[in-house]
Amino acid sequence: MTKVLYNHNIEEAILQEKKIAVIGYGSQGHAHALNLKESGFDVVVGLRKGKSWDKAQEDGVEVATVEDASKQADVIMILLPDEYQPTIYKEQIEPNLESGNALVFAHGFNIHFSQIVPPSDVDVFLIAPKGPGHLVRRTFEDGAGVPALYGIYQDATGQAKDIALAYAKGIGGGRAGVLETSFQEETETDLFGEQAVLCGGVSHLVKAGFETLVEAGYQPEVAYFECMHELKLIVDLLYEGGLEGMRYSISDTAQWGDFVSGPRVVDADTKARMKDILTDIQNGTFAHGWILENQANRPQFNAINARENKHQIEEVGRQLRELMPFVKQSQKKKDVVNNG
Ligand code: NDP
Ligand code: MG
Ligand code: MG
Repeated sequence: MTKVLYNHNIEEAILQEKKIAVIGYGSQGHAHALNLKESGFDVVVGLRKGKSWDKAQEDGVEVATVEDASKQADVIMILLPDEYQPTIYKEQIEPNLESGNALVFAHGFNIHFSQIVPPSDVDVFLIAPKGPGHLVRRTFEDGAGVPALYGIYQDATGQAKDIALAYAKGIGGGRAGVLETSFQEETETDLFGEQAVLCGGVSHLVKAGFETLVEAGYQPEVAYFECMHELKLIVDLLYEGGLEGMRYSISDTAQWGDFVSGPRVVDADTKARMKDILTDIQNGTFAHGWILENQANRPQFNAINARENKHQIEEVGRQLRELMPFVKQSQKKKDVVNNG
């Protein structure tokens, strides 16, 4: 089994002498900045004036412009939206990089697909928490943590790994387990997971199930509860006990249905298409399309998003959730699974 590191395996002294700039104060940014600060590290947040700037100040963290924060810092963690990172890096971060600094990412996309090409005299590594930013913060406050991956792309100082591990410990990753990856593995598995399983796979499975019931004449409300609402219970069971734990809790009828009908929904053809999706990720087709879509100001993204939000399952769901005040949407958009 891969070696998993915990707090007691990690020395943090190397990071204590350094200044850390956390660029961005969104889902990941606020969690990294606050957790590092409370772990005793010297943190400055780099931002433009606006919503995040005000929030960071309210939270009592030191705030500066992206240029200033980058200039002050030895370790620069870039937690801006992936799409904007290349431009902001080029204009505001790169001119303030010094030899021996560390450039850090929470997702490998821009380095792996060469959208950012750092100079050779800085360390470049990855600290990717395997969970949404709000959970990185919430679990830390509870004395726990979210597992984190680290990966070294460039080790200019000979200390990149030690700095990376100390950083992972500082955000609470060492409480849950820190394991090594590469930029390539993190980028490709992250994109595949969110496309085929976690986000794309699940959303389309839920919608297809809902549509099947409604088209057969069943009430949309019943279809919503069955195909969307109940999913949480199942996912909680999977999280705690894997497939076996989930199957232990459901009825034997449900388990038999799982065994005989599951493979009729997800079959060899589905897996072949998953392989196609993985190929598109590996050979850069997906990245290329997404980069062009952003350059064109997201025409397809916006059109599909508007259409999806009007789907009947969303209309019905909004009404039903209004009547269940205990089902609260704690963090809009960003608290859902977005593994980078
Ligand atoms: P968010 O969209 O939540 O936050 C973006 C932050 O960047 C905001 O504080 C925003 O501030 C700031 N920002 C945007 N544009 C600029 C600009 N031009 N100048 C200065 N600041 C700017 O990002 P995420 O936390 O979701 O993602 C950050 C990184 O973490 C990405 O690489 C992502 O892949 C990775 N990641 C994310 C996960 C997650 O849970 N979301 C999980 C694991 C990895 P403002 O208020 O001014 O707009
Ligand atoms: Mg049932
Ligand atoms: Mg992702």
